[in-house]
Amino acid sequence: MNIALIAHDKKKPEMIEFVLKYEHVFKLHNLYATGTTGKILMERSSLKIRLKKSGPLGGDQEIGSMIANGHIDMMFFFRDPLTPQPHEPDVSALFRLSDVYHIPLATNHNSAELFARTL
Ligand code: PGA
Repeated sequence: MNIALIAHDKKKPEMIEFVLKYEHVFKLHNLYATGTTGKILMERSSLKIRLKKSGPLGGDQEIGSMIANGHIDMMFFFRDPLTPQPHEPDVSALFRLSDVYHIPLATNHNSAELFARTL
């Protein structure tokens, strides 16, 4: 399965903890991430992750393009609902595409836990 991993800055610690917990599962899949999320995850785990640009610099749009082209099967995007994001339009567009193409999207830790158990 092709899986996208993205976390807003304040949610990166949660994402790291989550991915480490399921590292044995994630290593069986093809992983993609926005730049900073993916870099941190690779520093903290043994996972190989294909990096896109940082989210605010177009990475969310790159992941959206992958969805539109059928290259993403599931997405974990730990969203920070309490902090304004300069690239909010990109985030909205990405979420929209996940609905257009029926891509399972986990936006918080508890949803992600449920998703991970299906992998
Ligand atoms: P980042 O991007 O992984 O490069 O921090 C995530 C985002 O904010 O969309």
